[in-house]
Formats: sequence, structure tokens, C-alpha cells
Amino acid sequence: MAGRNFLFVPGPTNVPDRILRAMAVPMEDHRSSKFPELSQRCLADLKKVFKTTSGTPIIFPSSGTGCWEAALTNCLNPGDRVLASRFGQFTHLWVDMCQRLGFEVDVLEVEWGEGAPAERYLEALAADKKHTIRAVLVCQNETATGVNSDVAAIRRALDDARHPALLFVDSVSALASVDFRMDEWQVDVCISGSQKGLMLPAGLGVTCVSEKALAAAKSAKYPRCYFDYQDMVTANASGYFPYTPSIPMLYGLREALQMLLEEGLENVFYRHSYIAGGVRAAILEGWKLKLCARAPRWYSDTVSAVMVPSGTDGAAVIARAFTRYNLALGAGLSKVAGKLFRIGHLGDSNELMLMAAIAGSEMAMLDCGIKVEPGSGVAAASAFWRERPAPAGAHA
Ligand code: PLP
Repeated sequence: MAGRNFLFVPGPTNVPDRILRAMAVPMEDHRSSKFPELSQRCLADLKKVFKTTSGTPIIFPSSGTGCWEAALTNCLNPGDRVLASRFGQFTHLWVDMCQRLGFEVDVLEVEWGEGAPAERYLEALAADKKHTIRAVLVCQNETATGVNSDVAAIRRALDDARHPALLFVDSVSALASVDFRMDEWQVDVCISGSQKGLMLPAGLGVTCVSEKALAAAKSAKYPRCYFDYQDMVTANASGYFPYTPSIPMLYGLREALQMLLEEGLENVFYRHSYIAGGVRAAILEGWKLKLCARAPRWYSDTVSAVMVPSGTDGAAVIARAFTRYNLALGAGLSKVAGKLFRIGHLGDSNELMLMAAIAGSEMAMLDCGIKVEPGSGVAAASAFWRERPAPAGAHA
């Protein structure tokens, strides 16, 4: 098919040419005296992205899922009790992992379309007088439903309950796109991956652990080997890895971090909220459809899940967009399969890239019998963006 593929799934995201070029390198010796220059630069710049001075970033050759497992197996003992909430496919999978690894999980069940319920976390923590809950799990951005949660509010719940549990945050589809504050929110483990806001291919699990988490790992008895924090921290101290790292991915990561820091993190966050605002204008005001996220407080600035009218099929829209218009949209997963399609708007993106996603979604919906007003999405997004200040360095 002539022309390019338009990739608007919420990860993997579009990899900027600058990063692709940085990754086109010959292999080199990962034990050479030169290698630490590369690894230490990546680790130092990651600290800025996690907003931490005391935390330790760790890069695993995995994806976000590996970092979920690392958090659980490094910091906890077999059978430990954890508190989590479930409101989408990814929060479900994390709970499922906890159960499969033999942890006791207290699950706060939440309607899909809402986010982490801070007041219910507080209740559960306050009721746990003996402090048997060892870790609190929260997902900052549920990618399956396009729902954002307030991590600071979960921190406050822990503080208000004077509860010492560790705080694990899944920031897979939030980090480097929306604000994340490791130190200020006293997060003990932040879990992320390379293929979303970091604008890289999938392949790196990018995580950050607090001093408290590392101390817990020293005495925690859950068996682990490949994902052992301490092996990684010891090797990283001199700039090396306990096993063979992916050299192109590290060059790519170095470039990605450089790009994010050149733009400025606060500018990156503004750009994401600005782009997301235009996409939401297309959905809500243009097409007059609903988001899966039920209220503005839950709206995600990285992915929008568009509910299709009842009696129509979101999966058919996705299939039509892909086969007819070369546009990749995100699928409805599990409980919401067929009920929605998702537009990813994170990572390297600007207004006109999203215009392609909006226009393509509109054509695919019309082809599938969904009666949106032709051109209404593009018109609403255009009005939104033209009325607001452009992101910094928008056309550098
Ligand atoms: N958590 C969230 C919120 C995600 O969106 C994803 C993947 O999309 C994951 C966890 C799992 O990450 P990965 O696919 O990188 O293993």
C-alpha cells in the first residue's frame, strides 16, 4: 500500500526519526571501558524523568510486565498481602499476576471508566490496624479505558492512615507524557516501559525504586534471579549490566531522554494535554460520542477510548480503519471488546498527526454505519487547537 501507516495505538508509539537514526549502530563490547558513558548517561537522565534524586532507575531487558513482576518479587515475601484496584484490562492483569505469584490480593473493584478510588484505599488501609498489607498498587493511567488516576491522592491515603506499606505505581502509559513525581509522592516502585512516552520500540522495562524499596528487597524472601534489583544495582554502579544489554535500545533511550529534556518535561506534559484536548473535542463535541472515562477527572491525556453507539461494533471500525485506510487504532480489550476503539495520543505527536487519526476514524465509522457528521471531528479539534497556545518548540 502506498503512503505511510498511521500508528495510533496507545503503544508502541511512533519512534521519531532522530531516535531511529540513533539506534542504527554497529554492535560494540558491552564490557569495554567506553560503555559506562552510555549506560550512566541513560540512568542519570532517567532520574530527571522520574523526578527523583534518591530513587534508583533500573533498565530491564523486558517490557512493563517484567517490571510489575520485579516489584512484587524483589520487595515482598511469599504470600504477602497487597491492596490493588481493578478497572480495566491492565489493572486486571496486574492483579492476576499477583494471584498467580501467590500473593494475597485485596481487590477494590471499580466500574470500568473510573479510576483508583482514593477514599476506598484510605478505608482499607485504616482498617488494617496490624499493617499486614505490605504493598499498595495503583495504575496511573489505565490504557484499556483511557482513565487517569490521582497518584498523589493514594499517597495521601497511605499517609492519612499512617500506613507503612510500599507504594507501587504503574506508569507504563503515563511516564514522560503526563506528570509523575517519584520523590514528592514517595513512590517506592514506578513501573514503565520503552514503547510509550519514551518513544522507543518495546523491549526495555524501565523502572525506578526508592531507598525504602531497596531496603525491603534486602530482606524479602520471594525467589527471583533474572529480575533481581540488587544484581542490577551492583553492576550499574560501575556502568555495566549483569547480562548482555541491548546496545541499540540504549542508544535509542539516550536520544529519547535527550529529546525530552531539550523540549522540557513541563512542555512535554503541556503538549500531551493540548493534543488530548483536541482529540476529546473531536469525540465529544464533533462526533457527539462518549468516552469510556466517565468524568473529566478521569480523562487521560495519553489515550482516549471512544464508545461506539450500541448496536455498532468497535472492532469493525478498527478493522476497516486498518485495511482500508492504513490506520492502526487500539482495540477494546476484554469486557469492552467491540464496545470501543482507542486513539493513542502519546509520545511523538502533533496536531496534524492526530488529524489523520481523527479523519481516518471518522471515515471508518461512517463506513461501518456509525452516523457521525462528516468532518465534525476535524472541525472540533481544529477549533480547540487554534484557540490555544501552541506547545513550546512546536515547529523547531
Ligand atoms: N500497564 C499498562 C497501563 C499498560 O498499558 C501496559 C501495556 O500496554 C502494561 C502495563 C504492560 O506493559 P507491557 O506490554 O510493556 O509489558
